[in-house]
Parts: sequence; structure tokens; C-alpha cells
Amino acid sequence: MTVRRLFIAGATCPACQLEDKLQLCRDGEREWIECVRCGYQDVRPTEVTMKEPDAPDDSGVVKFKP
Ligand SMILES: [Zn+2]
Repeated sequence: MTVRRLFIAGATCPACQLEDKLQLCRDGEREWIECVRCGYQDVRPTEVTMKEPDAPDDSGVVKFKP
């Protein structure tokens, strides 16, 4: 299963407090966020705003399901 990773623009990592280090990861069944700097992961429902120029079907907001 390929994991698709998208950087989340403007998102702040709650662990290391740095912006633009979080990625939204999807493997087809699950979605989670992951910090590329400190390795923090979170699967809790959240809402983030992101910039993804290669996603034609995305209005710019990603919503995690509860
Ligand atoms: Zn971090």
C-alpha cells in the first residue's frame, strides 16, 4: 500500500512547535498527520488548511472524520 503524503501549510506541530513540518498521510484506509522533524504522529480528528497545487479535487481544506 502506497502512503500518500501531503505537506500541511501553516500547520504547527504540537510537539516541536514548528510550522510547515506536518504531513497528512493516507494509505487508503487510514489518515493521520506526521511531523517530519520530530516524528510526532496524531490520528485525532482535526481540521487543517493546506496548500496542495497538485490536488485538483481539493478546495484547500482537509477534514478528518471523527
Ligand atoms: Zn514536530
